[in-house]
Amino acid sequence: MNEPFSGFLREDLAARHRAGLYRTRRVRDGLPGAETVIDGRGRLAFCSNDYLGLAAHPDVAVALLAGVRRYGTGAGAAHLITGHCAAHHALEEELAAFVGRPRALLFSTGYMANLGVVSALLGRGDRVFEDRLNHASLLDAGRLSGARLTRYPHADAPALQRALAAAGGGRRLVVSDGVFSMDGDLAPLPELARAARAHGAWLMIDDAHGLGVVGADGGGVLEHYGLDIDAVPVLVGTLGKAFGTFGAFVAGEETLIEALIQRARTYLYTTAPPPALAEATRAALRIARAEPWRRERLRALTERFRAGARSLGVSLGAAPTPIQALIVGAAAAASDLSAALEARGILVSPIRPPTVPEGTSRLRVTFSALHEEAHVDRLLEALAEVWPRRDGARG
Ligand SMILES: *Cc1c(COP(=O)(O)O)cnc(C)c1O
Repeated sequence: MNEPFSGFLREDLAARHRAGLYRTRRVRDGLPGAETVIDGRGRLAFCSNDYLGLAAHPDVAVALLAGVRRYGTGAGAAHLITGHCAAHHALEEELAAFVGRPRALLFSTGYMANLGVVSALLGRGDRVFEDRLNHASLLDAGRLSGARLTRYPHADAPALQRALAAAGGGRRLVVSDGVFSMDGDLAPLPELARAARAHGAWLMIDDAHGLGVVGADGGGVLEHYGLDIDAVPVLVGTLGKAFGTFGAFVAGEETLIEALIQRARTYLYTTAPPPALAEATRAALRIARAEPWRRERLRALTERFRAGARSLGVSLGAAPTPIQALIVGAAAAASDLSAALEARGILVSPIRPPTVPEGTSRLRVTFSALHEEAHVDRLLEALAEVWPRRDGARG
């Protein structure tokens, strides 16, 4: 009876091995940071999304513990039963103020926020337009909604414009990452907003990697481009990256948020996140706002790395963010380079299909405000030893 499944699974696992796409987990111990313990060994790591270095901040930890004493460890119920606590409510108000919108609504994760929002806004007969390189949760959200899904070429606003012009009736939603998670580049928001508006579509931006990091005050890609709620009616942010905790939120007008409370199934049918976590996030948000040096340091580290990598002949995109993609090509080559760096004490993740398109496997380097210039220099020295030589690429 079980044979069809176990046969299928065994063959799938074997095929992943053959293709060099088999994934395994590493076991990390202790606090996150530049130097971290992986599989029992100390490593200099460039893999986390803890951009501002808040995931191990003592003030955030103290707020979490105080939250546990006040609220206990779990919310005990969904938001619409008795799970919605004063801590959640205060955090929603502070997040709304941070992004300059009337309301914000907390979700348990970014994945759930995206599934919930798109399914609440669209159904059969509607249309959703997504950048080909959008995060998996956004593409899954489009599919789950039942709307007709069009994937336009990466960051190609004219192609989006044409797809919108050719689409029939129904509601239309354009969805994009703000900062693309595997390339670190920014979506061309002004052009996307113009195309959406010209065709009566709403624009939804998931700024998981931009909020807290991009923009002078950490307001993300919308602050960077100076765009308001009319240009981007739906903004999604996550809390597990720059803010160092866990969870996500959607921010927009009163009507949108009230509708999500009624309609978003990933909001309704799940336990509210622990209220203590909301207290921790409130503390992280205060630090992110009060300490711009964290963003400035990220920019300086990124520039130092880009200048050094360019002189090694490494192919870098145009990303102005702490996500730097070193494009390698073949999946096996990316894995080999990552292993060679690790043999030198440095941890950089290889990113392979299906996370990125075939032939664009890469090393994905991310920086944190906890990195020092000497860490960047160590990474560059190791890259100089392992990066394949090309003619004229190196002295
Ligand atoms: C990480 C990420 C998510 C998922 O957020 P979680 O809170 O980790 O579920 C969603 N969208 C983008 C663009 C992301 O990078």
